[in-house]
Amino acid sequence: MIGPILTIVVPCYNEEEVLPETSKQLSAVLTHLIDDYLISRDSKILFVDDGSKDRTWAFIEKEMAKNPFVKGIKLARNAGHQNALLAGLETAAAQSDCVVSIDADLQDDVQVIRTFVEKYRDGFDVVYGVRDKRETDTFFKRTTAEGFYRFMNKIGIHLIPNHADFRLMSKRALDELFKYKETNLFLRGLIPLVGFPSTKVFYDRKERFAGESKYPLKKMLAFAFDGITSFSITPIRFVTMIGFLAVIISALAGGYAIFQELAGHTESGWTSLIISIWFVGGLQLLAVGIIGEYIGKIYREVKRRPRYAIEVDAFSNQKQDAFMVGK
Ligand code: UDP
Ligand code: MG
Repeated sequence: MIGPILTIVVPCYNEEEVLPETSKQLSAVLTHLIDDYLISRDSKILFVDDGSKDRTWAFIEKEMAKNPFVKGIKLARNAGHQNALLAGLETAAAQSDCVVSIDADLQDDVQVIRTFVEKYRDGFDVVYGVRDKRETDTFFKRTTAEGFYRFMNKIGIHLIPNHADFRLMSKRALDELFKYKETNLFLRGLIPLVGFPSTKVFYDRKERFAGESKYPLKKMLAFAFDGITSFSITPIRFVTMIGFLAVIISALAGGYAIFQELAGHTESGWTSLIISIWFVGGLQLLAVGIIGEYIGKIYREVKRRPRYAIEVDAFSNQKQDAFMVGK
């Protein structure tokens, strides 16, 4: 039996230090899977250069020339991890039966890809890679991430805990995913919504092979905040409730103030007055801020801007090449 065509999609942003090793390890994985007749000989690795400023694209081009497994696309500018991943998935899906996405930094165990493929062959459309331990992450990253999952679950966003973007998806699951046209992409939240038979595979997450995290704290916080506000209106409800409580408290305080006024103790009112002014003012600012956040989201969604632009596509598109040659 001829196996399914697998494409491994790897988003890369300034990853020149790790790519040679990543390419080597992923090629070895493909070779073994092909030798064991688990996947088709047409399986590929698709590197997505997300507007890197270093020699990432130069490496991908060089690698394409000598490694038949390697293909690449180059985005016209940095579109961010999620968008780069989507660019890769959409490009790959057109010519694959299943697609694995993995970070470039080799933190995820490439050996698990074999298990992914076996699960796919058992009939699962989505296979989530789930980290067993987070020992290699810093204490800070570990606790914030755990808190994040717990919080997300509380407000009704059901993520797969300890699963990042290391997973296999079948072509039909991907085609469903592509129907979600939102600009604020949070793939981890979307994929469980898509449905289809799914399963988890556990693995140990390692340290970054080389280079630094491309997710500094600022980007991490923005990512978490995006994840929340893209999927849930609970924060707005929460603010409404606080507002409601504040109104009740102020009414009680108001009654008390009038009582004091009538009793002739007016000079004692200044403290409570100034506190409530600041309290209510702060509350209003908070509420307006959160509502503004959602309006900002709506603003970005209604523009329907493309989520990425591909500058060079060395994966699909023979037609375009022929046209260029003809010219
Ligand atoms: N990445 C990307 N575009 C960006 C930031 C990151 O394509 O703007 C890629 C990066 O090259 C890596 C993956 O996304 O393959 C995850 O990034 P990183 O490993 O730095 O994140 P961390 O593991 O520290 O959360
Ligand atoms: Mg990483």
